[in-house]
Amino acid sequence: MQIAQNAVVAFHYTLTNDAGEVLDSSEGRDPLTYLHGAGNIIPGLEKELEGHEAGEKLNVAVTPEEGYGEVQPQLVQEVPRDAFQGVESVEPGMQFQAQTQGGPLMVTVTQVEGDTVTVDGNHPLAGQKLNFDVEIAEVREASQEEIEHGHVHGAGGVEH
Ligand code: ZN
Repeated sequence: MQIAQNAVVAFHYTLTNDAGEVLDSSEGRDPLTYLHGAGNIIPGLEKELEGHEAGEKLNVAVTPEEGYGEVQPQLVQEVPRDAFQGVESVEPGMQFQAQTQGGPLMVTVTQVEGDTVTVDGNHPLAGQKLNFDVEIAEVREASQEEIEHGHVHGAGGVEH
């Protein structure tokens, strides 16, 4: 069957940036499984997979706009060291969940200078053009329950 609304899709992928560096890959792991049309994966990739079938290989280039968004400078903020109470050592690269007006946001520490800590709330892949090499492993129809929940159950999905 072809990939369409409410199809459950399993695919292998290798993600590279424009410099050809591999950022992520499903190689050696189970394929990534998602419910098509439910916003489980980034819009640019979901759109390009539509209409394809198991066994097909495709190359999909995704712009930041249809990927993880552009880098938003206002998400980079300086906060006092005191904001990290209970954390013994704050180091660049550490990730924390911050409470913001828009809800919880994962931020990464990018710099520590004296009592000032710089955190970045942008997704690590924001602002990047992403190239996916995709091989579609399986396409099946979603169950009624999966459609209601908006995600896949069983292998590669949510177990509950
Ligand atoms: Zn569920």
